[in-house]
Amino acid sequence: PGPPVLEALHHSDLAGLLPVPGELSDKYRRGVVGVVAGSARYPGAAVLAVAGALAGAAGAVRYVGPAADAVVRRFPEVLVHAGPPADAGRVQAWVIGPGIGDGSGAREAIAQVLGSGVPVLVDADGLALLRDTTVEPSAELLLTPHAGEAAALLGTDRAAVEAARLAHVRELARARRATVLLKGSTTLVADPVPAPVRVNPTGTGWLATAGSGDVLSGLAGSLLAAGLTARDAGSVAAYLHGLAARRATGVPGAPITAMDVAAALPGAWRDAV
Ligand code: AMP
Ligand code: MG
Repeated sequence: PGPPVLEALHHSDLAGLLPVPGELSDKYRRGVVGVVAGSARYPGAAVLAVAGALAGAAGAVRYVGPAADAVVRRFPEVLVHAGPPADAGRVQAWVIGPGIGDGSGAREAIAQVLGSGVPVLVDADGLALLRDTTVEPSAELLLTPHAGEAAALLGTDRAAVEAARLAHVRELARARRATVLLKGSTTLVADPVPAPVRVNPTGTGWLATAGSGDVLSGLAGSLLAAGLTARDAGSVAAYLHGLAARRATGVPGAPITAMDVAAALPGAWRDAV
């Protein structure tokens, strides 16, 4: 028999994958995650992605974009920068996409982060911009589409992706030479090189709520900045995000918001270690 096609993270794997600050650690060594998200039209996407990033393992979050006021009002601990990402100062990984739209600033930003030499997570509006970006990524790339976004990148329709999620996530990873986290009722993480696809065992249908994907992208980006591989950052983030949603919704479950999920992340992390 060949290697397994699928694998799941087990609860007992998490402790070994989650970073722990060393005695001599400082905020820079823990990693700085840069978040390019939000716009005048969608400031909330910036707040949600930053909320996810703050719950990850990075020692600092740098926000770059036009929603800095909304971000700092909610999270005074965030470093903000109004100019392009290239001038924002050193980061160890970038998250780009939630709510950025498709204007010239967003296009310039994606070209800059892809060429920055550090790992990049691309989500939401950033995925649409990838289609006509010619910059070759200079470090690991993690894409976090839902089925509709994956379909647009593959030139097919959402129903086709939903009908064969495993085949499509592998195809997208190969075609884009990226690690791809395909969101949905079962989240899958595929690598561009042959390796078992990771299936996320946590989660709840209550996660299907506006903004929950933005929280996930911030969290996964923070884990990338802390030094996890794209494969581990994506699958550990999906695991914790699902666990947080389960904690927030309770048993038998009730509606939750994306911010409820973000607020439950520290408890999920403690459960996992
Ligand atoms: P987005 O589509 O970007 O808003 O992200 C939605 C988030 O909710 C992702 O983390 C999905 O995996 C998750 N999600 C959506 N629908 C379901 C579902 N039916 N069951 C579990 N998780 C879901
Ligand atoms: Mg989304």
